[in-house]
Amino acid sequence: MRLSALPAFEDNYIWVLRDAGRALLVDPGDAAPVLAAAAQGLEPAAILLTHHHADHAGGVPALLQRWPGLPVFAPADARIDLECERIADGERLRLLEREVRVFAVPGHTRSHLAFVVEGHLFCGDTLFSLGCGRLFEGTPAQMHDSLQRLATLPGTTRVCCGHEYTLANAAFAAAVEPGNPALHARRAEAAQQRAAGRPTLPSTLDDELACNPFLRCEVAAVREAAGARLGRAPADASETFAALREWKDGFRA
Ligand code: ZN
Ligand code: FE
Repeated sequence: MRLSALPAFEDNYIWVLRDAGRALLVDPGDAAPVLAAAAQGLEPAAILLTHHHADHAGGVPALLQRWPGLPVFAPADARIDLECERIADGERLRLLEREVRVFAVPGHTRSHLAFVVEGHLFCGDTLFSLGCGRLFEGTPAQMHDSLQRLATLPGTTRVCCGHEYTLANAAFAAAVEPGNPALHARRAEAAQQRAAGRPTLPSTLDDELACNPFLRCEVAAVREAAGARLGRAPADASETFAALREWKDGFRA
């Protein structure tokens, strides 16, 4: 299968996973980049939506006009007001003759899903490279649990996030864990990729486990940085996560 990212809006990616000319589309927030790719031969087989936000789901009506009957799979959330098949945690779909596994990952929104297709993780606004999504609807404990579930996937999993936030996230990650050499290497790599006009994504889960502070709440340096913010030692990894998320919300590089 061949993976590509269609840039949309300021910093979104619409993910395209192709096999023999047909493609799964993940989070087409804008139809225009997809229609442009169709002019170059892209042929959608199905659409997967991670969550209801317009920058992820907003392009679907125009795509259904272009491709009537194209299957759309989405979380059971009334805010996604579309003809689509509703899917939930633990389901396994069969698309392009591949298995698509569905994970509920509440936190950014309460009905957020992630998908795994043949070594690719499509995680929307839950896990970002070197960061994670804002908590619009969930609690820190929910988001921490969601990230911990994703962290159990194989380390070689390609992490396909909804936004190009890596460099901004790197600045925060370096403030949390200034002594992490893997993080400095990843930050330098990401800076080069952006300078060359390329996405910093996909990363791998191994990269994220080595560098992303939100997946490293058990690491002493991360726990201590969170403790310095709290003014006391965090009780557990979930409290470390909560302190990091709150810190990041107010962080300016
Ligand atoms: Zn979102
Ligand atoms: Fe988003």
